[in-house]
Amino acid sequence: MSRLGLVFDSRYLHHAIANPSLENPDRLRSLYLHLQQEKYNKNTCHISPREATSTEISMVHSLFYVEQLREHAVKSDPFSYDRDTYLMEDSLPTAKLAAGGCLALAERIMEGELDYGFSLVRPPGHHASAGRGMGFCIFNNVAITAEYLRRNYGLKRILILDFDVHHANGTQDIFYDTNEVLVFSIHQKGIFPFTGDADEIGTEAGVGYTVNLPVHPQFGDKEYTYLLGRLLQGLVEQYLPQFILVSAGYDAHVDDSISGILLSTQWYATVTHLLRRYAFESCNNRLLYVMEGGYNSVSLEKSVIATIDAMLQKDFDRPGILSVPRAEKILVDHPLRKYWTI
Ligand SMILES: [Zn+2]
Repeated sequence: MSRLGLVFDSRYLHHAIANPSLENPDRLRSLYLHLQQEKYNKNTCHISPREATSTEISMVHSLFYVEQLREHAVKSDPFSYDRDTYLMEDSLPTAKLAAGGCLALAERIMEGELDYGFSLVRPPGHHASAGRGMGFCIFNNVAITAEYLRRNYGLKRILILDFDVHHANGTQDIFYDTNEVLVFSIHQKGIFPFTGDADEIGTEAGVGYTVNLPVHPQFGDKEYTYLLGRLLQGLVEQYLPQFILVSAGYDAHVDDSISGILLSTQWYATVTHLLRRYAFESCNNRLLYVMEGGYNSVSLEKSVIATIDAMLQKDFDRPGILSVPRAEKILVDHPLRKYWTI
């Protein structure tokens, strides 16, 4: 049996409204068709998602927030709760299925049935905090998964890497005071949600366990590979994560007009090879990607396929980590140096 599990399901297309929104079902339609090709049918394990239960959702989100969502989901104006995050009658079941799809994969990875997983869900999650949804995000799928791994499997060191072009503000808030989840976000400086400065480092037991790397527009493959290669290598060696979760947003792609970052399709394969190596070295290969943003459906599809192909490749490559002066500059005075040797 394949060691890669995929979650995709037509029910993830049900969260939809007539008004135009960047976050819409067309993002994933063609990708889902692509994944029905024989190559993927044969070589991956298609996992059926389940809805996350109220108890699982409440590990991260307040009951008051869930109640607010319920009330707004039946209003005639889909933007009555938030100007980006629309709500309609299928939004809650779809959001629960998104979180539950991630849990279904996490369970199978923990049981040893799978090494890798990719949860190709929507709505995305990383901007949602305990009591508030924003930026298209309703439930924080990756945070619910991390919390589930802590509570159900007793994990004490979970690494979340977020390479979506926007800061992982919701995920950061949820784990800001703990050292049991290390949240590492690389994102474009100065864009939505306007948080994620390098000096946001965590609080109490969590000091040093939030790592933010705001980067300049025009950064591309070389800068990203250098920064992630150098920092993750050090963090993984010192933190020894028991599970690696990835908030996989594809909106830093050169063809995604939402950002000024210039990543190529191939870069998503490169980072996947890096992460496979870190997962092999630290945590028995446990590696789960969770879909976040990505608003050009063509570059999104190609980049996700590049990711999956890199997961399916028999052996992982070892990309070279070449120094890039303008990326190196970002690390010179970075506060993470106080807590980690890099
Ligand atoms: Zn994003």
